[in-house]
Amino acid sequence: MGLIAFSTAAVAQSDYPARSITAIVPFAAGGPTDTVARIVTTHMSSTLGQQIIIENVVGSGGTTAALRATRALPDGYTIIIGHMGTHGAAVALYPNLAYNPISDFEPIGMAAGMAVLILARKDLPAASLAEFIAGARSGAAPLNMAHAGLGSVSFASCLLFNAVTDIHPLLTPFQGTGPAMNALVAGRVDYMCDQIVSAVPRLQAGIVTAYAIGGEHRSPILPDVPTAAEAGLPQFQVSAWNALFAPKATSPQIVARLNAALGKALDNPAIRKQLLDLGGDIPDNDGRSPQALAALVRSEIDRWMPLKSANVPPR
Ligand code: ASP
Repeated sequence: MGLIAFSTAAVAQSDYPARSITAIVPFAAGGPTDTVARIVTTHMSSTLGQQIIIENVVGSGGTTAALRATRALPDGYTIIIGHMGTHGAAVALYPNLAYNPISDFEPIGMAAGMAVLILARKDLPAASLAEFIAGARSGAAPLNMAHAGLGSVSFASCLLFNAVTDIHPLLTPFQGTGPAMNALVAGRVDYMCDQIVSAVPRLQAGIVTAYAIGGEHRSPILPDVPTAAEAGLPQFQVSAWNALFAPKATSPQIVARLNAALGKALDNPAIRKQLLDLGGDIPDNDGRSPQALAALVRSEIDRWMPLKSANVPPR
């Protein structure tokens, strides 16, 4: 009986994938996570010979989707595109998070790293980060900050920004920073923190303002945007990433298959160009392994843990 069960599983794995795969995106369409997911999974679909179908599952800063993924069958037919929020900052921000980013997932691999920018609506009068901060502190009416839900990248990184600058905005949640960006472009909210992938097309079109980019270096795609340190805010050291995860107990063979397909996508010149043109950082071979992703998740959980005791910014 055990032997029959074993060989059935082995056959299932050697046939994998025999049908389409669902990739859960924990946010609305049109945001950075959705964008990166669609770029890499399109290529992975051709490598695997089966469609990878994106399912946008929104709610609670991406944690609704992450929980859903933990409950899927670990058969390789459901994966999730997680990020620095769902698999990092959310642990600090939800006292009763119903999943564990380490023990409930099999890491597949990193898709892209991304800088985080401080963005504002185009017609905000502040010409620099310093002016923005001064205006926000002195303003009679609080500014309106958009974010993608408690635990998201936009929430966690702007929480850090607000804490170090002593700004107290009204918070306006969206189901992802795709819709949040639309509200920023339309002038319905004043500012937000978002990954570069979404910001680049809007900055190139001149329809939003970027005051600073988190991290040590300017982006070659946005050479005019100062680093936060250059703009006078060295404490804003934030960057984000998107990565693929499978539910815990997905077989090592299937994880390896998905990791190889992801690696092939990241080596493809057209895919690389799409990601690089949007300001994405493509991981090298070492950075793409499941082990590297597992280590990153652990370090991100630790890095953002200080958010647990409110108002304490992460290191
Ligand atoms: N950028 C979002 C976040 O703040 C999510 C998204 O729509 O990709 O986590």
